[in-house]
Amino acid sequence: MKTNFLFLIFLLAFTQCKANNQLLSAQKKVVKLMGSRFELTAVAENDTIAWDAINKGIVEITRIEKLISSWDANSQTSLINQNAGVKPVRVDKELYDLIFRSKKISKLTNGAFDISFASMDGIWKFDGSMTTMPNSLEISTASQFINWKNIVLDSEANTVFLKKKGMKIGFGAIGKGYAANKAMAKMKKMKGVRGGLVNAGGDLISWGENSHPDAWTIKIANPTDKNKSLGWLNIDDMAVVTSGDYERFFEYNGKRYAHIIDPRTGYPTTGIKSVTIVCPDAEVADALATSVFVLGQLEGLELINQLVGIECLIITDDNKIIGSERLKLRHY
Ligand code: ADP
Ligand code: MG
Repeated sequence: MKTNFLFLIFLLAFTQCKANNQLLSAQKKVVKLMGSRFELTAVAENDTIAWDAINKGIVEITRIEKLISSWDANSQTSLINQNAGVKPVRVDKELYDLIFRSKKISKLTNGAFDISFASMDGIWKFDGSMTTMPNSLEISTASQFINWKNIVLDSEANTVFLKKKGMKIGFGAIGKGYAANKAMAKMKKMKGVRGGLVNAGGDLISWGENSHPDAWTIKIANPTDKNKSLGWLNIDDMAVVTSGDYERFFEYNGKRYAHIIDPRTGYPTTGIKSVTIVCPDAEVADALATSVFVLGQLEGLELINQLVGIECLIITDDNKIIGSERLKLRHY
C-alpha cells in the first residue's frame, strides 16, 4: 500500500465475443491500487456497461484502501494503532467486522495468521534495502507485541482496542482478498454484467460468464520464473490466491526469508516459495495462503486438508510441489 492515488498503467480492450448466442463485450483495465497491480475484467451486454462495472470496482477498492491502510495516517486503522495501550477507538462496522474475521482466522490457524504482526514493521525490510540481520534483542522485544488475543473488540460500542502500547495491526495479508471480494460484489450486482474477474496483485476471483465458452482458466506462476506458468486451473465462481516470496524477500547468508512474519518468533518464514489457495472466497484464501507460509508444508497441508472446499498448492524452497487432497491442477 505504497501509493494512495490511482495510477493507470495499462489499458486493454478485448474484441467482442460471442457467448450464449449473444454478443457480449469483455473489457479489462489494469490499475495500481493498494500498492499492487490490480486487473479488473468485466463481461457485459455492451461496452458501456462493462466499463461502468470496471470503474465501480475501482471506486470500491479505493474506498476500502482508505479504510484499511496503515500507511495513511488519517485512516481508521491508523487511529487504532495510534491509540494502542491508550484507549479503544470507535470504527465503522465494516472495519470492525474485518478485524473480527481476522481474529477468527488467527484462532483457526493457531495464531499463524495475526494482523498484529505489524509491530515488526520497522524492523524487517523486504525491499532490498536491508543488508544485515536486524538486532536479535530488537526482534524479541517487538515480537512480544504480536498477539491477536490482545486485540480487544467491543461489539456494542463498535470499538477496537490494542491492549499494549507498541502493538500495531496491518491488513497486508487479507486486505487485497477482501477488496477483490467487495469489488466483485459491486460489479456482479450491476444489470447487464454477466461475469468478470478481479485480480488484486495475484489474489483473484472470477464469476459468471467468460468471453470463452469454457470456464475461466487461471494460470499458476512458476516461482522460479514468474513469467512462466506451472499449470492451470479451470475455475468457475472461485478465488485463486497466491502468496509468493519472489517479489518481496530478504536474503542473508544464502538463506531466503519471505515477507511473512512467524508470530511465534518475530522472524520471517523460510522453507516455502509459494502457496496458492483455491476456494470460493478471496479474503479467506488470502489469509490462509499467508497462514500456510507460517505453518510450513506439513502443518499447513494438514490444516487445508481438514477444511472442506478449500484446496492448496505449495512450492517449497527445494522446488517440491505439494497439492492438497482434492486439488485439480492441470499441467502442460
Ligand atoms: P502477498 O503480498 O504475496 O500477497 P500475503 O498475502 O501473504 O502475500 O501478505 C503478506 C503481507 O502480510 C506482509 O507483507 C505483511 O504485510 C503481512 N503479514 C506478514 N506476516 C503476517 C502474519 N503472520 N499474519 C498476518 N499478516 C502478516
Ligand atoms: Mg495473504
